[in-house]
Amino acid sequence: MNKNLLYRSIPKVDVLLEDENIQKMIERYSRETVMEAIHIEMDKLRGFIARAEDEDKAKAQIEMLPSHIELTVSAMHTPNMRMVVNGTGTILHTNLGRAPISAEHMKRVLPLVSGYSNLEYNLEAGKRGERYSHFEKLLCKLTGAEAAMAVNNNASSVLLILSSLAKGGEVIVSRGELIEIGGKFRIPDVMEQSGAALVEVGTTNKTHYDDYENAITEETKALLKVHTSNYRIVGFTDSVGIDALIPLAREHDIPVVEDLGSGVLIDLAKYGLTHEPTVQESIVKGADVVCFSGDKLLGGPQAGIIIGKKKYIDMMKKNQLTRALRIDKFTAAALELVLQEYLSEEKAVKNIPVLRMLSEPREEVHKRAKTLLRILRNRKLPAKMEIKPCESQIGGGSLPLERIPSMAVTIRPEKISVNELEERMRLLPVPIIPRTVNDEILLDVRTISERDVKVIADQLDELDVLNEISLIEQ
Ligand SMILES: *Cc1c(COP(=O)(O)O)cnc(C)c1O
Repeated sequence: MNKNLLYRSIPKVDVLLEDENIQKMIERYSRETVMEAIHIEMDKLRGFIARAEDEDKAKAQIEMLPSHIELTVSAMHTPNMRMVVNGTGTILHTNLGRAPISAEHMKRVLPLVSGYSNLEYNLEAGKRGERYSHFEKLLCKLTGAEAAMAVNNNASSVLLILSSLAKGGEVIVSRGELIEIGGKFRIPDVMEQSGAALVEVGTTNKTHYDDYENAITEETKALLKVHTSNYRIVGFTDSVGIDALIPLAREHDIPVVEDLGSGVLIDLAKYGLTHEPTVQESIVKGADVVCFSGDKLLGGPQAGIIIGKKKYIDMMKKNQLTRALRIDKFTAAALELVLQEYLSEEKAVKNIPVLRMLSEPREEVHKRAKTLLRILRNRKLPAKMEIKPCESQIGGGSLPLERIPSMAVTIRPEKISVNELEERMRLLPVPIIPRTVNDEILLDVRTISERDVKVIADQLDELDVLNEISLIEQ
């Protein structure tokens, strides 16, 4: 094999630039990107020839150079972050973006974020306004709190609250509530960042009133309750409710802070789920400051919502840290829209995707599962497909033990393994993320919307590689 000859047969850059398709790429994107792709692909090709042991294969690579350049250019312009179909049945899937935002809300947010808005401009007064003003009154009305604000996420809420109320002092928290919130982030570590010293009381399974009382010193700046949202301690347990802590805190003139994690505004028991303490209940019981996530059960954008007594919220608004944690215009706009839905519980359950998925009756899920199964069966893929009952989870560290009866389409491929099928689905243009259970692929239809069913249908051509694969193997 004459490698020099092969190297010399690589088209020159100016020849490539005259190629019709490459010309089109330059027009569509830019000369710079195309040149970059040419250099990347040329280097790859030279490397391939250097290692090549088969002349025909090397020649084929040289032939394919223009199309490789095209692929590289389009890959550079294809966003890596894409929509996926969530077939896992986990409603608040943190890896898949947690709470989906309603398409209708996005439509209404679009003009506010693609142009200018009154984010920090008071239109009545014609002067500077506050970015929380768009939803503060609404939050107070819905929760019964005196004042409210929001930061980037709930971990920021905890940081800001402790920094504002307890920096340089002590905060008392039960050992049973020192939680890890996923991604190796631990509440105690976040708290330490605030400059407040954590005083842990009680044991993992039991904390008593006396434990709190005995731990209070001159240095105590707050009592903290953390909702153990992503796990449950069951059995021989005891904890002190916020109602019991209030009189103790009042006696020492310190605030009680509650990190609710998920923060629900409606009674989930009405929808067949376990009752989760609501935000309103915390305020009624007398919590001075309460915080929760915007994109967990609330069903809104990523945010950390902080509500409570005006004097404390004012301290937080003035904290310099607030500037580093402040929400963006998108968050402010989307938060206002999602909170407005809660003015009517009926509307909230209908219009907020998380609540809709959570409360959708199994029969409705079943109907969609039947549609999906029909579409898949029409395609005659070499696989055994059925509808089976299954259970969805809430996820996102909310109601960890809760299981919602649901319906799934199960797929048992006949020509390839379950793992191969899972990979194929994951690598589709719009990836489908299923659950794999006992040798079969399970698509929990609770988290698959009507729109997603269409997306799956449109990609069946690509799943048909199942057929090709089986032909090659035979
Ligand atoms: C989820 C959670 C957090 C963190 O909230 P993010 O919005 O993800 O930052 C903090 N505390 C509790 C109790 C949680 O459940």
